[in-house]
Amino acid sequence: MSGASLTPDVDIFVVGGGINGCGIARDAAGRGYSVCLAEMNDLASGTSSWSTKLIHGGLRYLEHYEFRLVREALGEREVLWASAPHIIRPLRFILPHSKGLRPRWLLRLGLFLYDHLGGRKLLPATRTLDLARDPAGEPLKPGFRTAFEYSDCWVDDTRLVVLNARDAADRGAEILTRTQVIAARREAGLWRVTLRGRDTGTTREVAARLLVNAAGPWVDRLLEGALKHNDVHNVRLVQGSHIVVRKLFDHDRAYIFQNADGRIVFAIPFEGDFTLIGTTDRDYQGDPADVAASEEEIAYLADAASEYFRTPIAREDVVWTYSGVRPLFDDGASKAQEATRDYVLKLDRGPDAAHPGAPLLNIFGGKITTYRRLALSVLERIETELGARADAWTGDAPLPGGDIATTGFAGFADGLRAKWPALPFALLYRLARAYGTEIDALLDGVREPADLGQDFGAGLTEREVIYLMDREWARSADDVLWRRSKLGLRLTAAQAQALDRWMEERYSGTVPSRDTRQA
Ligand code: FAD
Repeated sequence: MSGASLTPDVDIFVVGGGINGCGIARDAAGRGYSVCLAEMNDLASGTSSWSTKLIHGGLRYLEHYEFRLVREALGEREVLWASAPHIIRPLRFILPHSKGLRPRWLLRLGLFLYDHLGGRKLLPATRTLDLARDPAGEPLKPGFRTAFEYSDCWVDDTRLVVLNARDAADRGAEILTRTQVIAARREAGLWRVTLRGRDTGTTREVAARLLVNAAGPWVDRLLEGALKHNDVHNVRLVQGSHIVVRKLFDHDRAYIFQNADGRIVFAIPFEGDFTLIGTTDRDYQGDPADVAASEEEIAYLADAASEYFRTPIAREDVVWTYSGVRPLFDDGASKAQEATRDYVLKLDRGPDAAHPGAPLLNIFGGKITTYRRLALSVLERIETELGARADAWTGDAPLPGGDIATTGFAGFADGLRAKWPALPFALLYRLARAYGTEIDALLDGVREPADLGQDFGAGLTEREVIYLMDREWARSADDVLWRRSKLGLRLTAAQAQALDRWMEERYSGTVPSRDTRQA
């Protein structure tokens, strides 16, 4: 860094490559600020890849009177869908009425508000289902007669993070993965940020005018550790787990089940052949990196879904589990499930009010659904601190690969048959869902299956892996199989190891590109 003269290397330094950090970096870079973002592991390796993957208003939050959050989140559904129709799509939810739980009138009232609070234009409205006639009733126990069906959206959460990082980099941001912020201190009106490359162990310093702490569940740890703040307690860490089983039903809608404890559990079509069931809410202590679904949570989810499905779910039906930690703003709620899902921004100008130092902006809470709005609020604060550069722009800008008409994905995917007639349509469809119009870059020059290079299994080829390494910061098999895709559900352990070896050899045999370099 240009330390001696203490000129800033960048305007904004962002800690954390989850949805919030990447969303802020994208917005800021697009407005002309110089930005550097550091992520200690892979992008979206924290909470942002362990969500239920819904862009939703949060029907349940209405019960906690979170009208501001629900309105904002409902409005974001169609904005985000339009920005990335390849990785975001509408999903209908079936909410069966259960005797003895929430009464029909309450469900109707909640769904009426849900339909009307948030500026819905394209998503279809709520309707009532007769489960004796509708195919949605078939997998359910016969006692369930009526259900309500309403709209929300599904998102590939990790790809949303990566595409925000990609767009930020395309607009000039420096994105450093596998790079941990180990210290940050104020010096002569700037931040001096010390970074350490996770694999290389080398350190580097960057001087920035403003620091954004978007470390998710590590937000307090960053304050206490790297920033040396005392007695920090801003977030409540709440664990949420999911189980994945072979698919339990044949239609493309999801279920939202009411549980006897007042909570709700989703059962969602997942990756074609599976059903995703979640989630749980329980307070968590310890390093968020160590979180894992417990046997108790797995049993809870299996039991909750088995209350509704004709075929009960047994432990051996569970093919995969995952768990994440919600970094919820600690509003003092007694139960984990009642803690607010809204976000809170706190600006800190340093200990000396008479001589404000370099600003620090801490982000607490927030949902995937509201990440763009959170970034807008952050940018308002940044403008006040650093001076305005350009107007807000993310409201109608596509993410990489998302320049497809909002409702035009099926036509777009179909059109790929003519472009690549020799490639199987199932492969083209998967690539179209993952990469949208970027498929042109990925398959540039490909005519025949052989042009795709080595097949690592389940249709994952050298061509795609190289794209992910060069354009999306992928370094290991896990990055590719569990974050850039969910092909980990289909590859054997031996295939995954072979991919890991291949990627390691390719990485060490090539000069890292701008996007994959480390501190
Ligand atoms: P993270 O994604 O955790 O990102 C923070 C990053 O900071 C991490 O990647 C971490 O490695 C990095 N980091 C930390 N310290 C350092 C350091 N010193 N140096 C460098 N990097 C560092 N939201 C929805 O909208 N819809 C849903 O359906 C939904 N379902 C959910 C289900 C569950 C079970 C959970 C847990 C959450 C769910 N959420 C959902 C909420 C949503 O996932 C989170 O609010 C969101 O992902 C938080 O993003 P983030 O960027 O703040 O945190």
